[in-house]
Amino acid sequence: MGKIDDDKVINGEGYQLTTLDKAVGLARSNSVWPLPFATSCCGIEFMATMGSAYDMSRFGMERLSFSPRQADLLIVAGTISKKLGPILKQVYEQMAEPKWVLSVGACASSGGIFDTYSVLQGIDRIIPVDVYVPGCPPRPEQIIDGVMNIHKLVKKESLRRRYSSEYKDLMSDYKIEIKDNDAK
Ligand code: SF4
Repeated sequence: MGKIDDDKVINGEGYQLTTLDKAVGLARSNSVWPLPFATSCCGIEFMATMGSAYDMSRFGMERLSFSPRQADLLIVAGTISKKLGPILKQVYEQMAEPKWVLSVGACASSGGIFDTYSVLQGIDRIIPVDVYVPGCPPRPEQIIDGVMNIHKLVKKESLRRRYSSEYKDLMSDYKIEIKDNDAK
């Protein structure tokens, strides 16, 4: 499961003392359940990432969730049309807090080469994104790098962040309502 590297941690023989924030962060970062929202070529690259050669199970992430309520990492890989946008947003809203978003590839991050009337020019127009992975398509190593950056965020996140006014303001910018139970 790893250990907590921090000068506030007290290590002794057979024990480690730390704060609740750090212990929860460590547990969460080693038990992320991803929900893949894959629509096109980047989705194929994500499938390769899940294969044995790259082995996501070393992060405890081999169990993909296709149920938003049981997932905490939304991985968006592929071109998102404007017509699909509201469905993506609904899936995000159905995920319980705390939740994170990884945008994989140029299309999900910016519309990519499809600067057209029908393609959403980046999913951050409808939902907040935590980490962007560049590339068209990104290689599995880049996707894994994005996942590891999500782990770093999850590990360091304060338990209070989801209650903060900054987070509520961010959600209200996206017109997403936070229910009381969601932030727990
Ligand atoms: S970024 Fe490139 S590879 Fe990925 S979905 Fe778009 S066109 Fe396909």
